[in-house]
Amino acid sequence: MRSAPSYDNADLRRLDVAHHLPPQQDWALQESSGGSRIIVRGEGSTIWDAEGNEILDAMAGLWCTQIGYGRRELADIAHEQMVQLPFYNSFFRTAAPPTIALAARIADLLGGSLSHVFFNNSGSEAVDTLVRTARYYWQAKGEPQRSVIIGRKNGYHGSTIGGVSMGGMVSMHNQGGPWVPDHEHVMQPYSFEEQREDEDEDAFSARAAQAIENKLIEVGPERVAMIFGEPVQGAGGVIIPPRGYWKRVEEIARKYGVLLGCDEVICGYGRIGEWFGFQHFDIQPDLVSMAKGLSSGYLPISATAMADHVVETIRAAHAPFVHGYTYSGHPTAAAVALANIDIIEREGLVMRTKSDTGPYLAQALQTLSDHPLVGEVRSIGLLGAIEITSEKGTSQRFGAKPGLAGALIRDACIERGLMLRAVKDTLVMSPPLIITHEEIDRIMLIARDALDACEPALR
Ligand code: PLP
Repeated sequence: MRSAPSYDNADLRRLDVAHHLPPQQDWALQESSGGSRIIVRGEGSTIWDAEGNEILDAMAGLWCTQIGYGRRELADIAHEQMVQLPFYNSFFRTAAPPTIALAARIADLLGGSLSHVFFNNSGSEAVDTLVRTARYYWQAKGEPQRSVIIGRKNGYHGSTIGGVSMGGMVSMHNQGGPWVPDHEHVMQPYSFEEQREDEDEDAFSARAAQAIENKLIEVGPERVAMIFGEPVQGAGGVIIPPRGYWKRVEEIARKYGVLLGCDEVICGYGRIGEWFGFQHFDIQPDLVSMAKGLSSGYLPISATAMADHVVETIRAAHAPFVHGYTYSGHPTAAAVALANIDIIEREGLVMRTKSDTGPYLAQALQTLSDHPLVGEVRSIGLLGAIEITSEKGTSQRFGAKPGLAGALIRDACIERGLMLRAVKDTLVMSPPLIITHEEIDRIMLIARDALDACEPALR
């Protein structure tokens, strides 16, 4: 059974241009290139397009298919739940069994005092919920002037008005504002571009964390609601913070009594070798947003977790928190997410990422570091990055416009059957957690071949 059985590849590409507007893209390029590549099937870590090309998906969809494609178990669970109760709301002092069971399961994985979970549909909505909660928390505590949120430049927190405001991406801020006030952004801990020659890792780490404290003092600590960030910045280019950075940021949050929030939309669900990124960095946030790996993308669902003290404060206000989405805690999506977590647990994918495939990816990436176009390789768990440079040993880029080299090499990878993403001149990868050693080797072979093929055109 197919959703559009009468359409062939050419029809679909034509209809794509005529009617479908793709996210985060140049719509003129969509038109001039004759439409999107039509992806028709997935199995394990591989996808196929309508022309029969087999592509190794080193992006796990969009940082999300932890368990890979083609898991019938999830389809069966969705079917069962749809027959039993496809949807009911959670507004009328009502809730469905999978919704409650999933909240309890997530709380268990988070540990500590993060025992309450609010559901949304997307990562952006999870972030919006988190911001409203942080600000409402301070209102409920009698400090409504605490509305400022400090994030990082180039951080990505989604595409809603709230998500873009929270995020620190200039290209997004340039389109469709004005933005929600009281969001501040400080330097990102991006060593490849921002670490000075006279700094070692500890000095760079201290300077990057100090930027947060400086901003807090500049704004006035009594006005700050929260410090917020991705444990490892994903969409910004897999920015792995230097040693000690998050511990120091946590200390700053505690010193000034402000909330600490982590955006786990990419890092959560095993991506960096623990269930959540904050566990890897050994910090304790008050608020956590998550999506993607929560359901491995099989159905849209996201969540915002809150610490006991946050919920106790809000409960003490004895007023409804007037916030929520029709599909908050959608029973079918919740049932699928539970089955996804079961698979991650049963197959030991978090530990495998930490002690097997993650270290293997790190080693494999190192084999590319001798390439003349490669300025740096780095990884953490199954998040990896390759920096493209015009001059080995520096962070110099090709040409006046950043991103041309990255796009060229990414396209060469896709042509050769490897899906990677380019963030300007950084190639990033985030393969499914089921990726094998052989598949990781294949990523490197194709990437090297693409680098070799593109070098003459770049020089
Ligand atoms: N937060 C982070 C860290 C993300 O990486 C993303 C998406 O990539 C989002 C939020 C937004 O999620 P969504 O696209 O599901 O709205």
